[in-house]
Amino acid sequence: MSGSSALVLFSGGQDSTVCLAWALSRFDRVETVGFDYGQRHATELKARPVILEKLRAQHPARLGDDHLLPLAVLKDIGGSALTDDRKIEMGENGLPTSFVPGRNVLFLTAAAALGYRRGIADLVGGMCETDYSGYPDCRDETVQATARALSLALAREVRVHTPLMRLDKAATWTLAEALGGAALVKLIVEDSVTCYEGDRTQRHEWGYGCGACPACELRAAGYRRYIAP
Ligand code: ZN
Repeated sequence: MSGSSALVLFSGGQDSTVCLAWALSRFDRVETVGFDYGQRHATELKARPVILEKLRAQHPARLGDDHLLPLAVLKDIGGSALTDDRKIEMGENGLPTSFVPGRNVLFLTAAAALGYRRGIADLVGGMCETDYSGYPDCRDETVQATARALSLALAREVRVHTPLMRLDKAATWTLAEALGGAALVKLIVEDSVTCYEGDRTQRHEWGYGCGACPACELRAAGYRRYIAP
């Protein structure tokens, strides 16, 4: 894709770090956007500049501006274990209490609007249907319907790429290795944050985290299957 540019939804977590590496391998120019929505695991936001600095050293001409947008409306609406002091467990609606209603639709809308201003039509996000927590806004159907709605709303094509959509967590580690070798795997282990509690005090073979929340469990199980398939 010569002369092409992409905007990556980059949270500082494992999945979006792999997405960023994927975009850097395919687009000439890559910008990143993160969202501050009052997430309890704000250590994620602290991880962003650390990861960006390391990747920028490897891709000085390719990795461009980073943007951080406040979406405090999600915190204001509340009710989620990701924004409120609430236990992560299965809710009565069959979804974990970590579900933030409308989150990915809002993220994509904000990213598409930013992309419009930056002249970028290609968005890249880490949404994933496999190994996921049952969030309906991670489904391919939801993401692509949102892309279609945004294309209509902006009267300009918006494409949303989701390289992890069909991958499980073990395959995501394998993709990271294919894209950036052992160095990228190490960067993800050391610097990316997945833990819902934002725990940076406990170091495991798969990285930092509480080791007990659903996000840590998924990351740990995926890493073990990646190391010993
Ligand atoms: Zn955790």
